[in-house]
Amino acid sequence: MIQKMERLECRFIWAGVQDKSKYHLVRWDVCKSTKERGGLGILDLSCMNSVLLSKWFWKYALEPSSWWRNLIDVKYPRSSSEWRAGNGEGPIGCSIWRCIMKEENMFWKFASVSPGGGAWVSLWNDCWISRKMLKDSYPRVVATSSNRDAWVSDHISFDNERVVWDFPLMYSLRGGADRERNDLLNFLFLLPHDLINAGPAKLIWNSSDGFSVNSMYRTLIHDRMEGLDNFPFKVVWQQHVPSKVNAFLWLIMHRRILTHENLKRRGWFLASRCVLCEEAEESTNHLLCQCQYSNSIWCLLQQLIGFLGPFPDCFASIIRCWSPRSQLPWMSSLAACILHAFAWELWKERNNRSFLDKMCGWQVVFHKICRTLLSWVRVTGTLSDSQSAEWLSLMHILCPLQNRSDSRMDAASSSPSSATL
Ligand SMILES: [Zn+2]
Repeated sequence: MIQKMERLECRFIWAGVQDKSKYHLVRWDVCKSTKERGGLGILDLSCMNSVLLSKWFWKYALEPSSWWRNLIDVKYPRSSSEWRAGNGEGPIGCSIWRCIMKEENMFWKFASVSPGGGAWVSLWNDCWISRKMLKDSYPRVVATSSNRDAWVSDHISFDNERVVWDFPLMYSLRGGADRERNDLLNFLFLLPHDLINAGPAKLIWNSSDGFSVNSMYRTLIHDRMEGLDNFPFKVVWQQHVPSKVNAFLWLIMHRRILTHENLKRRGWFLASRCVLCEEAEESTNHLLCQCQYSNSIWCLLQQLIGFLGPFPDCFASIIRCWSPRSQLPWMSSLAACILHAFAWELWKERNNRSFLDKMCGWQVVFHKICRTLLSWVRVTGTLSDSQSAEWLSLMHILCPLQNRSDSRMDAASSSPSSATL
């Protein structure tokens, strides 16, 4: 069922409601990673299902007198542990509880029992000293124990503030094989000898956030999912930018926009040529960094925001280190989105030339980028009319157009009512 639902999700993400087949540009596993790790933050249904089932173990341990726990205990007798439910093994039983119990080992990777004074904490069957039960970590040692349902408190006594452990029946191991003796020594070495709080035992969640479905899901998804470390998600998912442009920059970071270079990787036979300069093969980095056409625009944009720095050969590298400081504070919000506008308008120009046989000079595209930026930022209300006018004025000073038919567009851009996404 989960696989079927995820197939529908995946199809919707890449093809919408259309029946046409579309390229799935980024692997689904990566899409399900968090935005911080380069994904789209799409809910992983299998992972969330495990987390929601695991919540029952948390509730079971914290609600010892609840009616539903008593019902479970009657139907599925538990071992000596007060914190773990019976596993429902046997000829009779409810398949729902058995399915829930399949997630138990995963839950105890994140939870443990703080022993307090050791009462009501099973020595062998609770995860109180490590993430594994001692009966699983030291099976040969537990085999020598006369009481496999013992509490921790059964084996300790206090000598002033030190804990003294007592396992009288285990000394038989001293005469055993080396392997058994080593197990015993390792086991005894593991036991804590500092003061155990005399308070009651309690269940603790091995995370600073405490237990919540969200925190457990995020921890699990981080461990399970592939993703990129140090993904510049704050730059890519700028909040002033339309979502489709955010997604476009996200595709650029994954090098998955459909340039000739990527189409050839997918089996297309193309005579690749950059439609902007016609001097090199088309690739993501050529279009956005190395092309003379885009370089001319970028030089002016740098002057516009007062940012002077080298322009690397790789656009993803620029995104990774993008943190421009403008001398004018009001210009910072524009500078923060400038990579989005630059890449978006260049891509539109590339598509207009490729599919509509329409072309604009780089000066016109520069003006489009400036106006697009203004329209995005003005809707946030952070720019005054005078600042918008100053931005357009700087644009004209840096790059005056011969044909000033755009003056009408400038007037419209300065008007707050026209600033829409
Ligand atoms: Zn080019």
